Amino acid sequence: MSKRFRVRFAPSPTGPLHMGGVRTALFNYLLAKQNDGDFILRIEDTDQGRTIEGAEAYIIQALQWCGITPTEGVGFGEGPHAPYRQSDRKHLYLPYAEQLIKSGFAYYAFDSNEQLEAMRKQAEGNNSMFAYNAVTRKALCNSLTLSEAEVADKLSKNEAYVIRFKLPENEDVHLHDTIRGHVTVNTSQMDDKVLYKSDGMPTYHLANVVDDYLMQITHVIRGEEWLPSAPLHVLLYRSLGWEQSMPQFAHLPLLLKPDGKGKLSKRDGDRLGFPVFPLTWTDLASNELSIGYRERFYYPEAFTNILALLGWHPESEQEIFSMDDLIKQFTLQRVNKSGARFDPEKAKWFNQQYLHKQTNAALAAQLVQVIQGAQAGEKHTTLLSNSHFMEKICALMRDKVQFVNEIWEQGQYFFERPVSFPENILQKKWNDDAARIMAHYANLCQTQPFISREDFESGFKNSATELGLNAGNFMQLLRICITGMAGGADLFETCALLGKVEIAERIILAINVIKELRKGA
Ligand code: GLU
Repeated sequence: MSKRFRVRFAPSPTGPLHMGGVRTALFNYLLAKQNDGDFILRIEDTDQGRTIEGAEAYIIQALQWCGITPTEGVGFGEGPHAPYRQSDRKHLYLPYAEQLIKSGFAYYAFDSNEQLEAMRKQAEGNNSMFAYNAVTRKALCNSLTLSEAEVADKLSKNEAYVIRFKLPENEDVHLHDTIRGHVTVNTSQMDDKVLYKSDGMPTYHLANVVDDYLMQITHVIRGEEWLPSAPLHVLLYRSLGWEQSMPQFAHLPLLLKPDGKGKLSKRDGDRLGFPVFPLTWTDLASNELSIGYRERFYYPEAFTNILALLGWHPESEQEIFSMDDLIKQFTLQRVNKSGARFDPEKAKWFNQQYLHKQTNAALAAQLVQVIQGAQAGEKHTTLLSNSHFMEKICALMRDKVQFVNEIWEQGQYFFERPVSFPENILQKKWNDDAARIMAHYANLCQTQPFISREDFESGFKNSATELGLNAGNFMQLLRICITGMAGGADLFETCALLGKVEIAERIILAINVIKELRKGA
């Protein structure tokens, strides 16, 4: 019988989840779903000095927002392998480190930080880098160089120690990576990594391998930055006698900056104005705020679609993928080895595609939230509860925007009379004829039973004909009088929505303001 498919996302709570981390979670999730398997969220917090308050809760909320739901793990209900936070599993790891010592695959090291620092300095002096390895360990203070009695003595006196992995000397370690194929690393390029620290905590390497084994993980799918650790993990599986249970590895390509040069970082987002975190994060130490995709009004479905295509390419030209589509079509075989360039403009385009899928009613409900969030809800309570009005605005604006909040930003005139007018255009175009046609049209609006778009449009044409003017020459000015803006939604639809009384008043007000402006000019 083949083993149940089990994958995990194992972030360290050292800060907010970067979009690359969410992509790792997504790929794991997709494969678990596709294979009817389990997807575990494990929090790797063995480096307590780097644990950041709020990061774990952030990770959980980010996954919830994205719809990437673990079947077991921290924040998602306990499962058969609880607990899922490594600091809560602390007691589990030492016996494995000790087992490795007994079987000759690890050793105690008693070197003080000062001694190691001195070695580093000395190596630097010789233009080389210090590594605790098969050569240097012979001259250092560890259970390989000390006698059994000396080691026992140090341990009984509770002297600080770490446990290091004893790398085999000059040996090729082979591993198969689903994305990268065959990978070989010689142990001479590695060092004797610490497995267990003097603070009584395992390091990432030991805890990660022990937990993957105990949690019966079948596939380790993680970022490329962990590829250098993989040979050590292979050796750990072997040394612990777990070779038969070793998971398959797949290391996902890096996310690259928009120009393709180097790894995508928070700084690129700050510089170029796009989010790199799924949700807004406030750094408690610096009070620095990083706006998230959610707060920039991305749909979570658009965000996961964007992430899926960072590194993975489908067989067809298809670009829009629902989660169900992804579950059906995603394969690691179609994930590239080389880095995936992030294109912030394309990201906006994706959101726009998802916005187009919304009904006007759904958009209207979202728009209400946007306006309330902008603290303008109370001012407009009546309009916000008028669903016909709200849906009509969405219908008029939906093709002009990429994000729902832009309907509010660009369509504020639906709710409020304009307070300013683009002076550069008025300077060029406003003249006595403009004042005449606007006044004439305002009068028609007051006196005629205009209701439909057509009423308003033919009314304006009639005004022009009566005054011997060309309506087309004054359309933009009419728009400016009504909306205060040079462009926007269909003008006569806007008139029909706002109604003849409001339109007449807006035009008269605008004529007066503009008259004053021009006097002053
Ligand atoms: N704790 C590691 C991280 O923060 C996990 C790496 C892995 O998946 O093995 O990304």
